Amino acid sequence: MTWKITKSELNNEDLLLNESLLSLGNGYLGVRGNFEEGYKDSYNSIRGTYINAFHDETEINYGEKLHAFPDIQQKILNVIDGQGIHIYIDDELFSMFEGEVIDFERNLHMDAGFAERIIHWRSPKGKEVKIIFKRLISFVTKELFAIDVDIIPVSHIKQVKIVSTVNGDVSNFVDKNDPRLASGHAKRLHVTEVRKEENLSIVKNITYATKLEVACITSSKIESGVYKYKSKTTDGTVEETYLCEGNGVVQFTKYNVYTDSLRHGEDVIAEGLVIQEQLKGTNFENQLLLQKKYLDNFWSKSDIKIDGDASLQEGIRFNLYQLLQSVGKDPVSNIAAKGLSGEGYEGHYFWDTEIYMFPVFLMTNPDIAKNLLLHRYSILDSARERAKEMGHKKGALFPWRTITGQESSAFFPAGTAQYHISADIAYSYIQYYLVTKDELFLKDYIAEVLFETARLWIDTGHMKDGLFRIDSVTGPDEYTCVVNNNYYTNVMAKHNMLWAAKIYNLLKEKDNKHLEQLASGLELTEAEVIEWTAAGENMYLPYDEEHKINAQDDSFLQKDRWDIKNTPKEKFPLLLNYHPLTLYRYQVIKQADTVLAHFLLEDEQDFEIIKNSYDYYEQITTHDSSLSCSIYGIMASKLGYKEKAYNYFTETARLDLENTQGNTKDGLHMANMGGTWLAIVYGFAGLRVKESGLSLAPSLPNEWNSLEFHLQYQGRLLKIYLERNQVTYLVIEGEDLTIVHNGNSIHLEKGIEMKVQ
Ligand code: BGC
Repeated sequence: MTWKITKSELNNEDLLLNESLLSLGNGYLGVRGNFEEGYKDSYNSIRGTYINAFHDETEINYGEKLHAFPDIQQKILNVIDGQGIHIYIDDELFSMFEGEVIDFERNLHMDAGFAERIIHWRSPKGKEVKIIFKRLISFVTKELFAIDVDIIPVSHIKQVKIVSTVNGDVSNFVDKNDPRLASGHAKRLHVTEVRKEENLSIVKNITYATKLEVACITSSKIESGVYKYKSKTTDGTVEETYLCEGNGVVQFTKYNVYTDSLRHGEDVIAEGLVIQEQLKGTNFENQLLLQKKYLDNFWSKSDIKIDGDASLQEGIRFNLYQLLQSVGKDPVSNIAAKGLSGEGYEGHYFWDTEIYMFPVFLMTNPDIAKNLLLHRYSILDSARERAKEMGHKKGALFPWRTITGQESSAFFPAGTAQYHISADIAYSYIQYYLVTKDELFLKDYIAEVLFETARLWIDTGHMKDGLFRIDSVTGPDEYTCVVNNNYYTNVMAKHNMLWAAKIYNLLKEKDNKHLEQLASGLELTEAEVIEWTAAGENMYLPYDEEHKINAQDDSFLQKDRWDIKNTPKEKFPLLLNYHPLTLYRYQVIKQADTVLAHFLLEDEQDFEIIKNSYDYYEQITTHDSSLSCSIYGIMASKLGYKEKAYNYFTETARLDLENTQGNTKDGLHMANMGGTWLAIVYGFAGLRVKESGLSLAPSLPNEWNSLEFHLQYQGRLLKIYLERNQVTYLVIEGEDLTIVHNGNSIHLEKGIEMKVQ
């Protein structure tokens, strides 16, 4: 039961929500869970097909445009619609909103990699049929979106007509009233080719500004008795009609193959035709088998098993599954804030990747994690350029939100000013090194990224009275913008600089020749490395003596506190109801900030300061961002607040399934989905990955009987099993390993279960 998400609503609000929840994807291609035939006219739908990173650019119009404000914005596009299938039963058009729906359910099969819609329908004139739609986006042939329909007569039917369309005349969704959605520029693609070639429908589109091309090449097959076939093309659509006579079962399969010029070379149609040719011998059943095999492998390493709560179990699996469906697996793509399930945040990549999602892949599928780092590396040049534009002499400033590296944030106080993204990216490179010990990657990529980001901090901050300070930046909390010495930013910059120096020295020792080459290419001097160390070691980390906490920034604690308890419920999220300046004037926090820093770099402070800070900041945090609860949950676990840890966790596990943020229709909250995993593995199991190795401090929630998960670490596969009074560790693959369990070293021998209290 927990492998399957089931839905059966037919009202507009739930249908919209289910479009996101039942979306399918494979990291390259994503399709929302729309009905093939559409809804009734009065209903809204965000009918969407997306290719990760496939985007156009639009001008940003400012009232007042100041220096280095970005001129253009990137936006993921809704591409050619291959979903269309209309069915006529003896001349009556099938619609779930006409006649009678006798029985209906939709399922997302997370172990098998497909979605289905099963309908028992009686037409207005009394004809009865069962119709089963199945659809999948292949994890094996990334270009393939396949739909299979079975039409099974229940009463006597003389004729079934199927009209299948591929439509290139598509637009994006806009909503002027929500800053988290695009407010204009709906139509950014136009059709350049529409034709039939033998049994294939071919539609090609080009974007207005970036001139990227996308093609959808569709083949279809029918299994029925006698049938007639015809096709026609219009300006933007290819339409195929199958007319099947007799009362037998009709099975119709449609293979849509999507290619784009970001990945498939100059001739996207030719490439699509090659893929269609390769798929020729396969049928839908074969494709299902391939999905299953791929997912068996995925789940064997990534599943988390909880004994004690089926609904949370469902939430966790759903979140992991959606992460897999969203993560880019080629070097031109990353993970959009909404994955490939919707258009919220316009397909942009944020720090969400590095801090919330990357760790999940790092610890379960390091190859996927590596690819995310390669994507960031591919935009390093743009980050260097952006640093220059922003007035820095050296270094790399990564964009706050982007697809191909250009800053796409028009609101700098909560955008560009979040310089911490550069340290977050550096942090993920360091974590990758700690988990994989990949020396080659260190030389080829990690060193350069760390050096360039360390340079940014030197150029942004300054020494005063022996302390290194960083002014005018914004931390993760977007309700407190452009401040001096944000604790999170400073401590992450410190880590960034000290590691850059460490890696410099490591390379000097191990491969000086390589270092010399790299340093000469970057015109990097030893004097700079000395500066990184000095700045890192003397980093100013705000501390407030009165409360014995780390101050979020220099001015934060001097402000009035926002009265959260007496703020009416309908005023949340505050960002939709108050001018930013109003929020900036108060102690009110959108999402974990100092508390997050205490998680990522816990050795920087004593336990007491971390605890006091948590107690203080929790009171004034609204969790208006979905990136918040998971972190508060992890830290509650660390501090021994068991009940709180559990409550925060339950908030994250079903956030989209329950639509608790109210905007899941615009796409899933991917960072939170990563956060669910973090809250279990870093929270309940207390995992930390440091230079000294792996440590765990498990504490099973009282509500559960057991918890089981796997980790990958330096070429090993580990199994960790928590029960009420005991923890079992097992090295399944790779060499023996020494870890720290609740502060004590334990040695794990490969293949031998180690049980500890
Ligand atoms: C959060 C950011 C996040 C962005 C995209 C915002 O609401 O405050 O931290 O990066 O959403 O998920």
